[in-house]
Amino acid sequence: EKINFNAGPAALPATVLQQAANAVLKYKNTGISILELPHRGPEFLEIIEESKALVKELCEIGDDYDVLWLQGGGRMQFSMIPMNFLSTGDTAGYIDSGHWAAEAMEYGAYYGQIQVMGSSRATHYNHLPEWPSDIPNHLKYLHITTNNTIYGTQYSDIPKVNVPLIADMSSDIFSRKWDYNRYDLIYAAAQKNLGTPGVALVIVKKDMLSRISNHLPPMLNYKAQVHENSILNTANVSGVYISLLMLRWIKEKGIANIEADNNNKAEILYKAIDESKLFTGYVQNPAHRSKMNICFTAKDKETELAFLELCAENNIIGLQGHRSTGGFRVSIYNSIEVASVRTLVELMKKFETNS
Ligand code: PLP
Repeated sequence: EKINFNAGPAALPATVLQQAANAVLKYKNTGISILELPHRGPEFLEIIEESKALVKELCEIGDDYDVLWLQGGGRMQFSMIPMNFLSTGDTAGYIDSGHWAAEAMEYGAYYGQIQVMGSSRATHYNHLPEWPSDIPNHLKYLHITTNNTIYGTQYSDIPKVNVPLIADMSSDIFSRKWDYNRYDLIYAAAQKNLGTPGVALVIVKKDMLSRISNHLPPMLNYKAQVHENSILNTANVSGVYISLLMLRWIKEKGIANIEADNNNKAEILYKAIDESKLFTGYVQNPAHRSKMNICFTAKDKETELAFLELCAENNIIGLQGHRSTGGFRVSIYNSIEVASVRTLVELMKKFETNS
């Protein structure tokens, strides 16, 4: 048994793993595995319909939204958004709040003009950029990243905007009470709070579909995917099923309880970091600190390696920072238990006492 703090693919709840394992052996009374289940049969249609209904229920959104399960993870959405909503000469706004935000922006530049609506790149994204004071009405959309997975910053509030608002919520969807109705398109790669890699949840407001200006192959066209109910081609049946198991788990635990645990975990860990003489938090402004990915550094490389080694000896894995930042990143997504964070903090204290 390991405590797995990886940023993605992330740890899944034990009950979900057990249900997934059972379905791999035999899916309900079909006599076959979920890995063999036909994508055009009634069982998969049920999986799609239940998962769509649960997404709407958990987001508290109505029938003015469509819910899609698409392949290609987060980056496919970096691509599809500008493909669908930007034509040559059009401009979109992007907030450059981290590595993934910047990559989304680069993908956007293949299709239109990009206006950077704030950036914290100059300080290696150690805080959130100031919110733009003026958002030009001609922007086809404003793209934001609600949680910056690599640097550990997260918005706690998003002001109202006057252009379509598109958000990458890959690393914090369903982690807290949140007004999903404020968005015109939301997407989340599943491998953090919502299942396994290769699947992306897309929630799109129906009136956005009439704004699709380009002639696109059906796979890359949101309207065609809605029309085919996410079963345009051979779907990732098992991936969507695991996302359904996660949605059921989220509903059962309740978003309010999930949020309370997430607040608790983050508080315990940030407190330990702030009190430590060996470790320093990457994000200093408390209002900008992520409750999903907690990044910090050690006073020198030797200390960093020694602590990683001690963690490995104690079956704690996945703490290494992203290759672009170094240091540590502890991802405490919904499935991580408060007790696991306490175990880590105890080890940090023991390490500090002994060094
Ligand atoms: N967006 C965010 C916020 C992420 O954290 C990640 C991956 O970690 C991605 C996008 C990229 O997702 P994918 O690897 O599925 O393309």
